[in-house]
Amino acid sequence: MNLKDKICIVTGAASGIGREIALRYARAGAKVAIADLKLSAAQAVADECIAGGAEAMAVMMDVSSELQVRSAIDEVAHAWGGVDVLVSNAGIQIVHPIAEYPYAEWKKMLAIHLDGAFLTTQAAWPHMLKRGGGSVIYMGSVHSKEASLLKSAYVTAKHGLIGLSKVVAKEGGPHGIRANVICPGFVRTPLVDKQIPEQAKALGISEADVVKNVMLKETVDGEFTTVDDVADVALMLASFRSNALTGQSVVVSHGWSMQ
Ligand code: NAD
Repeated sequence: MNLKDKICIVTGAASGIGREIALRYARAGAKVAIADLKLSAAQAVADECIAGGAEAMAVMMDVSSELQVRSAIDEVAHAWGGVDVLVSNAGIQIVHPIAEYPYAEWKKMLAIHLDGAFLTTQAAWPHMLKRGGGSVIYMGSVHSKEASLLKSAYVTAKHGLIGLSKVVAKEGGPHGIRANVICPGFVRTPLVDKQIPEQAKALGISEADVVKNVMLKETVDGEFTTVDDVADVALMLASFRSNALTGQSVVVSHGWSMQ
């Protein structure tokens, strides 16, 4: 699958899943903008892409800031002549029982996951129109389909991305703009490594039990999904040739969630 000279922006690409997608796109011939809160870590990923022979740049972006999103996406579009692929991936996790979930943290979760998806889509839109179309990919989760204890805000936000992607698919269709959601199961990234001790404490069980009996319990083989698995799907969705594949969600979870 080829992304030769496609202009791609991946948010939250300084780490984990986003980083792997950026590297995969670079290897497929794309020009890749690594957008993240953490500029020096984003620059390190851009440097890795450049070392592999690709064009890449790091841009500072808080996805929940309208001003920062617009200026970073405009900067990329002006440097390279548009936007072909947007991967709205930046995300965090905060776990609490619903009765104790601080309202400020609820709002922060929705701002990063949902406002971030909306704002990056809106900012990329005119630059995709100029290119005659594009591919928008939202990083959902199995939690776009299923629920888990302690994750009220995350589950709400990830379900919301499915609705957003369907509207973007409908409004974008006539312009060749596709929108899809990737729904990974648990992937060992800093986001998940942080949750294991937090959930062990909140649920009163061991960390090994969190992994075996909470995170991987419903998989077909007790395995984590990997950043490579998710990057494979992100490459397929970015490089797909037509509107035949739009408004969909692809679950990559070792069978945790089956549709
Ligand atoms: P990660 O913590 O490794 O990376 C997240 C990145 O997002 C970091 O570089 C961080 O700096 C950046 N970020 C956080 N807030 C930001 C903001 N406001 N603006 C810009 N950048 C910001 O996490 P990850 O596991 O790679 O998660 C990436 C995405 O995948 C998230 O949306 C997450 O919900 C989703 N996801 C992860 C898993 C998993 O098991 N790891 C499973 C399903 C979905």
